[in-house]
Amino acid sequence: YYAKQNHLDTYCFSSELAQTANRRIRLEQELKLAAERGQLQLHYQSQFSLTPQGNIITGVESLIRWHHPELGMVSPAEFIPLAEETGLIRPVTEWVISEASRQAIIWEQESIRPARISINISAVELMQQGLAEQIVTHIVNAGASPDWFEIEVTETAAMNQPDTAIDIMTSLAAQGIYIAIDDFGTGYSSLAYLKRLPAQHLKIDIAFIRDLPNNAEDAVIVRTIIAMAHSLGLKVVAEGVETHEQLQFLRQEGCDMIQGYLLGKPLTAEATSALLRSRTTAPSLL
Ligand code: C2E
Ligand code: MG
Ligand code: MG
Ligand code: MG
Repeated sequence: YYAKQNHLDTYCFSSELAQTANRRIRLEQELKLAAERGQLQLHYQSQFSLTPQGNIITGVESLIRWHHPELGMVSPAEFIPLAEETGLIRPVTEWVISEASRQAIIWEQESIRPARISINISAVELMQQGLAEQIVTHIVNAGASPDWFEIEVTETAAMNQPDTAIDIMTSLAAQGIYIAIDDFGTGYSSLAYLKRLPAQHLKIDIAFIRDLPNNAEDAVIVRTIIAMAHSLGLKVVAEGVETHEQLQFLRQEGCDMIQGYLLGKPLTAEATSALLRSRTTAPSLL
């Protein structure tokens, strides 16, 4: 009986492993074709500035979506790391930049373009030579302008090779692109390092927002990050705000901007256009 049980366990375990491996191979093969098969989409999540006049959309973050015909929606949290490991990230990013540029032009023509459209750049790419020039070339060739865009770089990515990261960010900034440090608080940046970054925005990772305002430690951490960022001349964006209590706390603490399901989930380009249109004509005061 035990032998059988063991055998069964082993079998189940390896079959699960095999399934994971198969899915990986499949995703890897099919990601190459996803763009040309029209399976990739950009969704946009609004960033709201907290002003005395109300919450105003000052930016949208583009978030990639892959609609696989059989596997359904594949999360970027799954396929972006895979794309990084296999070198497929480059064409994916090129697609994202052209698509975001194309959309930005549509919004510009309709006079509803938000001040900033954020694009996530993966750690692997940030370190590549010539990245800054390529991004700018792509944007300009599409007929858009670099100062319509912001690049989001994760804190950990920036920390891996700090000097290279600073060089590339400086070059992007020199061409008018805004820089945001994403998922802040999960890495180990020193103040000295943060001071050297040519960034305008610092995004507090959702992990520190989730248990606000009741978790006393998170409350202190968030308060400290906001104070530190402000003293360095950076504006703060809180990610993953889901409740009124979180919003209330962040507003009290002087957080500049809010992003999260409470004020808006990531939406299709069409739904985002509708939202931008409704807010430009009648800015609602939340
Ligand atoms: P991120 O850049 O930190 O994006 C924030 C993630 O939090 C998004 O997940 C967003 O949908 C989610 N989110 C927003 N508000 C809330 C909230 O209130 N509650 C919760 N629980 N989640 C919220 P998503 O779209 O699945 O993206 C996951 C990650 O994949 C992103 O994290 C980013 O690192 C990466 N990613 C997404 N799009 C791209 C892309 O175009 N290029 C690259 N290189 N990476 C991307
Ligand atoms: Mg981001
Ligand atoms: Mg983030
Ligand atoms: Mg993230």
